[in-house]
Amino acid sequence: MSPDARVGLVVVSHSRALAEATVALALQMVADDPPAVAVAAGTDDGGTGTDATAVMTAVEEVGGSGGVLVLMDLGSAVLSAELALELLGDPGYEVRFSPGPFVEGVVTAVVQAAGGAGLAEVAREVAAAGRDKAAHLGGDDLDDSAAASTSAPTDDVDGVVVEQVEVVNAHGLHARPAAAVVAAARRYEADVRVSDVTSGRGPVSARSLLGLQMLGAVRGHVLRIQGTGEGARELVDELAAATRDGFGEPIGNAGEGGYPSAVGNAAAVQGPEVGPGVLRGVPAAPGRGHGPVWFAEELPPLPTGTAGSPAEEQARLDAAVAEVAAALDRRVTASTGEHRDVLRAHRLLLDDDALLGPAAEAVRAGRDASAAWQQAVDAVVEAFEGLDEEYLAARASDVAAVGAQVRRALAGSSGGLRPRPGVLVVDDLAPDDVHLLAPDVVRAVVTARGSATSHAAILARATGLPLVVAGGPAVLRLAEGSTLAVDGGTGELVPHPDDGLLRRWQEQTDADDRAGSAARGRAHDPALTRDGVRIHVAANAVGAEDAREAARQGADGIGLLRTELVFHGREHAPDDDEQTAQYLAAADALDGRRLTIRTMDVGGDKPVPYADQPEEANPFLGLRGVRLSLARPELFAAQLRAVVRTAQQAPVAVMFPMVATVDELTRARQALLAAARQVGVTDGLPPGLEVGLMVEVPAAALRARHLAPLVDFVSIGTNDLTQYTLAAERGNSHVAGLGDALDPAVLALVDTVCRQVGPEVRVAVCGEGAADPVAAAVLVGLGVRELSVSPRSVPQVKHHVRALDSHQAAALAGRCLEQPDAVGVRALLEVELRTATDDGPASSP
Ligand code: PEP
Ligand code: MG
Repeated sequence: MSPDARVGLVVVSHSRALAEATVALALQMVADDPPAVAVAAGTDDGGTGTDATAVMTAVEEVGGSGGVLVLMDLGSAVLSAELALELLGDPGYEVRFSPGPFVEGVVTAVVQAAGGAGLAEVAREVAAAGRDKAAHLGGDDLDDSAAASTSAPTDDVDGVVVEQVEVVNAHGLHARPAAAVVAAARRYEADVRVSDVTSGRGPVSARSLLGLQMLGAVRGHVLRIQGTGEGARELVDELAAATRDGFGEPIGNAGEGGYPSAVGNAAAVQGPEVGPGVLRGVPAAPGRGHGPVWFAEELPPLPTGTAGSPAEEQARLDAAVAEVAAALDRRVTASTGEHRDVLRAHRLLLDDDALLGPAAEAVRAGRDASAAWQQAVDAVVEAFEGLDEEYLAARASDVAAVGAQVRRALAGSSGGLRPRPGVLVVDDLAPDDVHLLAPDVVRAVVTARGSATSHAAILARATGLPLVVAGGPAVLRLAEGSTLAVDGGTGELVPHPDDGLLRRWQEQTDADDRAGSAARGRAHDPALTRDGVRIHVAANAVGAEDAREAARQGADGIGLLRTELVFHGREHAPDDDEQTAQYLAAADALDGRRLTIRTMDVGGDKPVPYADQPEEANPFLGLRGVRLSLARPELFAAQLRAVVRTAQQAPVAVMFPMVATVDELTRARQALLAAARQVGVTDGLPPGLEVGLMVEVPAAALRARHLAPLVDFVSIGTNDLTQYTLAAERGNSHVAGLGDALDPAVLALVDTVCRQVGPEVRVAVCGEGAADPVAAAVLVGLGVRELSVSPRSVPQVKHHVRALDSHQAAALAGRCLEQPDAVGVRALLEVELRTATDDGPASSP
C-alpha cells in the first residue's frame, strides 16, 4: 500500500500540549512507519481552545485517497471540526469524525492506520477503544455493549456518541426524570437510546417515557446513553449532566425523604403508621365515617360485540387519546409544582410508542379499540409491576390511571365519579368531584396526596364530608371492599375497625352532635363573649348557593366571596353584567347582611387563559392576586364596576388579595374610584361600600400601620399568610406538616396587625384556621373581631366564642405567642381549654 493511500489522522484538542503529548505517545507504537497525523489544537496565542480554520488546514495536510479520521477531545472541539468540514467543501476524499475516547482513540488510530486498515476499520476500532479499560475496571456490561458497537455496521458506528453515567437520585429514573429525558430528546433530531448497563435492560428510545421507566434504573445503576445524528453530542451531554445532577432531585437514599412522587409522600412527613395497623393522613374536613373502601377507578366494561374495521377502530382510538390529551393539557396549564410535573408525565404517556404501538398493532389484528388499548395498557402495567424497586413498580398506577381515562373517553363516559356507599379512596380529589359526593352516601374520603387548604378540602368542609388528605401511597394499597374508619378531625385511618372502636367513635360523634345541636339552636343569635364583646361570625363562599347555606347556618354575612370561580373554567373573561348578576345573587341570599367581595385572586395556583399570565418558575411568588389585577387594568376595571353596581343595591364590602405594599393598595383604591366614576357615581364611592385589604403576605402585616389609613377593615388570610411565613407551599404535601396557622410566627403577625391598625379598623380572619376549634380563643384574644369560616362551621364557631372571656383570652393569646412552635401552642391550648371546661369556663368551653 502506498503511504498516501493510508488513513490520515487529525487530532483536535483544546490544549496543544495535550494533543502533542498524545500524538507522541501514539507514535512511539509505530516508530518505523507512522501514518500522517496533524494536530489542530489550542489558540494562536498559546491559549486553550479550538479553531475551525486550523482543523481545516490540518485535514488538508493529511488528506488523501485513504480518507481522514478526525479525533476530538471535548464537546466544542466537535463544533470546530464540523465547521471545518463545511469550510472545506468537498475535498475529494472521505472525512469522518470519531466518537471514540481521546487518548486510547489516538493511539489505536495511529496503530491501525499505520498497519494499513481502511477508514471504516480504523473508525470502528477507535469507537471501541475504551472497552478494555472499562472491562478491567468492572464495566462488563459496557464491554458487551461496546462489543455490540464493534460488530455493528460501519455506518452505525460512525458518529456514535456515548456517555456512561451513574444514577444518583433517590428513586432513580422514575416518571419525573424520565419525562425530563423525553422532553430533552424531543428538542433534538438525534436518535438517542438509553440502556441500564447494571441490569442489562434496554436499550430504549430516549423519547419513550414508558421505555425509560421500564428500565427500572435505580440509584447506583449505570446508564449508557448513546446517540447518533444531528445534535447527538449536545443531547447526550445534556442527558448525562442531568443524570449526574440527580435530575434536580435530592441525591441519596429513598429513606432520606424529599423525593417527588406521582402519588405523594406526605406519609414521609406524617409517618404512615401510627399504631398497629393504623394509618394517618392530614385532617382536612372534620367528621367520622366508616364503610367499605371503594376506588374511583371504575372502568366501563369492554364491548362484547364485533369490532369495526381496523381503520375505524384506530380512528376511534386516536380521537379518544386526543380528547384525553387535550384535557390533560388543560390541567397542566392550571396546575403548579409537583402536581404539574406529574400531569405532564401523564400527558407524555399518551404520546408514547410503548403504549400506542402495541395498541395499534392489536387494532390491526382486528381487536376493538377499547380492548386493544386495554391490552397495551395491561402489558405496560405488568412490566412495571415486575420491577424490583417498589417505587418504580408503583408507577404502574400512573399508566393504569391514564389508560382508564382513555377507556372512559372511548366509552363516551364523562369520567366523573359515580358515588358508592362507603369510603372513597383516591389519589387526589378535584374540587369538581366534591360536588358529586353526597355525605349521606359517601361516608368519608381519603386521598393519597393533597392538602388541607386545597379548594377541594374547603369544599369538603363546606359540605360536611369527612376528609383526610395526604395519606401517602399506603392508602391506595388498601383492599377494595375492606372496612375503613376515618376521622377527618384527627387524620386517623383505621382499617378493619373493631366494634369497640366504632362504638367509641359513635359516642364521640353523638357528643359532638349534641354540642352541635346546642350550637345550631343558637346559630342565628349574635355571638357575644361572656363579657359582651361582639364577634362577627361570617362565612366564606364561592357563589350564591354557599351564601344561601351561610344564611341558613346563621352567618352574620359573607366575610369572603371567592370570586375566582366566576373567572375560572372559561375562555373569555366574564363581563360587567354577568359579574354583577352573580354578586347580586349572593347578596340577595343574605337578607341585608354584608357581602364581602374579594377581587379576583387569579394567578398562583389559579391561572385563567385570558389573563395572559407569564410562565413563572414560582407562581405563588409571582403575578398573583392584586398584582395581576393591577397588571390587567381592563379585567380589574370590569370587576370593580360590577362591585360598585352591586354595592348600589346591597350592603357590600370589597377587599384586595395579596397586597404587599402601600403603593399596590393605593393603586387598587384609585382603580375602584375610577370604576365608580365609570358607572356614574360622581362623589367617591357608593354609600356603605367598605374597602378592605387582605393580609396574606408578611410584609403587609409588618406595615399594617401604613396600610390601615386606606381601609375600613383588614381580613387576614391565614392560608396564604401561613404558607408565606413558613415558606411552605400550601398544596405541597412534602411540607404539609409545617403549615399550621397556629404557628406562633403566624400568630405574631396577627398580633402585629391588631396592634398596628388601631380601633377604627376592624380585623377579620378568613383563612381556614379561623374554624379550628381552638383558634377562636387565640384570635379573639389577639384582637380579631370577625371570623369568617365555612358555612357549616358557623354555629360551632359562635358556640366557641360565647364561652370566651375576652380578657382571659387575651392573656392566653399572650402565652401562645411565647411558645416555640405550633405544637407548643396546641399543647397549651389543649390544657387550658380543657381545664376551663372541667372547672367552668375560663377562656373557652
Ligand atoms: C387565605 O389565603 O387565607 C384565603 C382566605 O384566601 P384563599 O384560600 O382563597 O387563597
Ligand atoms: Mg389567599
